[in-house]
Amino acid sequence: KELSSAQIRQMYLDFFAQKGHDIMKSAPLVPQDDPTLLWINSGVATMKKYFDGSVVPKNHRMTSSQKSIRTNDIENVGRTARHHTLFEMLGNFSIGDYFKKEAINWAWELLTSKDWFALDPEKLYITVYPKDTDAKKIWLEAGVKEDHIYEDEDNFWDIGEGPSGPDSEIFYDRGQAMNNVAEDDPQNYPGGENERYLEIWNIVFSQFNHKPDGTYEELPHKNIDTGMGLERVVSVFQNAKTNFETDLFMPLIKETEKLSGKYHYGQDPEKDISFKVIADHARAVTFAIGDGALPSNEGRGYVIRRLIRRAVMHGQKLGIDQAFLYKLVPIVGQIMEAAYPEILEQADYIQKVIRMEEDRFNETLKDGVALLDDLIDQTKAAGQTELSGAGVFKLYDTYGFPYELTLEYASDNGLGVDKVGFDTEMEKQRERARNARSGAKSMGVQNGLLTDITTPSEYVGYSQLNALGTVE
Ligand code: ATP
Ligand code: MG
Ligand code: MG
Ligand code: MG
Repeated sequence: KELSSAQIRQMYLDFFAQKGHDIMKSAPLVPQDDPTLLWINSGVATMKKYFDGSVVPKNHRMTSSQKSIRTNDIENVGRTARHHTLFEMLGNFSIGDYFKKEAINWAWELLTSKDWFALDPEKLYITVYPKDTDAKKIWLEAGVKEDHIYEDEDNFWDIGEGPSGPDSEIFYDRGQAMNNVAEDDPQNYPGGENERYLEIWNIVFSQFNHKPDGTYEELPHKNIDTGMGLERVVSVFQNAKTNFETDLFMPLIKETEKLSGKYHYGQDPEKDISFKVIADHARAVTFAIGDGALPSNEGRGYVIRRLIRRAVMHGQKLGIDQAFLYKLVPIVGQIMEAAYPEILEQADYIQKVIRMEEDRFNETLKDGVALLDDLIDQTKAAGQTELSGAGVFKLYDTYGFPYELTLEYASDNGLGVDKVGFDTEMEKQRERARNARSGAKSMGVQNGLLTDITTPSEYVGYSQLNALGTVE
């Protein structure tokens, strides 16, 4: 019988509990005491205090299923089989305790043992850093066939200064039938841009300190940090075409079909993207609001606002023109109840917040979309390739269209956006505001934000780490 996502999550945690790890609760998405991070974006982002030695953990072995948000993947959602804005990262961590040998052997045991994941070893591929001959040797000894190990220069985790080291990524071969590129495409290998070899797990061997002078110093206490995407392994277990055809997303898609009353999932690839985006964003905003964030024009709030408005626009594409996203909250709660019972408890509150934001946007949406369509027609008729900065700014300022949303809509129509013109309009407005409110705080916030959320958020947590290897 097919395992449920709840069972798979628990199996991972149980496996590492058996190997002496403490099971840690999923930390809130809003980073605690960490002003450098917008969102928790990985398991290790919650472990900084242990990795930099400022706090010594009770147990040097920990495991968790960490809810994570990655804004850099927003535009991948629905377009790749494997990316979400909110996902769970299963992980096991060693704080100066076990290292490469245990990390690799346990990974292989969990993945292939008949008592655990029982995946077919023939379908698993490993990538290693070419100079990391240790890792390769250990994988071979664990039972991986030589022709299933790829050397890849990219397998070195380094942010310029601080902890760094080689890593190994594990890929599941979903078969050529699932691929989006030809068998002989140069990208068709584990780690390439393709939909055949699905990256399910990244194991980082944090063994060096990258010093300011550019040299690498071996750490006295080495750490392990791993991340496995729950939705991706669930898709493997449930034999799904993408992460969405699993018990984590299908109930949301089914409900959206009902709300649409017009379209069905699986009939039109463009409509399917809308179904997927809505299911994805419903989860993300539900969890983010549950963890205390609120829609606004800055920082985290702007991300929530952008996700809600984006979902609403995809709702329109499915013929839904009333507030609807809030109706998915209880379904998110039911799907996630085993691990996150607090969502159902907070459902009323979360629904109210989402509904208010939807209503607000809906008031201007139709007029905004009409204006945008006009703008697109005019631009095309004039033989231009970019929407004017002034037009895009009006959509932003008067109709509440986040810049990125307009950009996306334009690119769906084969057009770009005059970014410089948009920035100029934004600057002019700031100038007006400055003049209007002398002595008031600078209005630079919005611009800072736009850069903030388009900056890849992966592992930025590390960039603030200082001393290393100070674990007692
Ligand atoms: P990809 O190359 O597929 O974008 P990644 O290399 O950026 O993944 P890591 O930073 O190594 O991902 O994160 C560890 C694991 O978390 C990945 O192996 C994957 O299983 C999962 N993961 C990462 N990003 C996402 C996402 N946006 N949605 C779902 N799962 C993700
Ligand atoms: Mg990525
Ligand atoms: Mg990758
Ligand atoms: Mg990776």
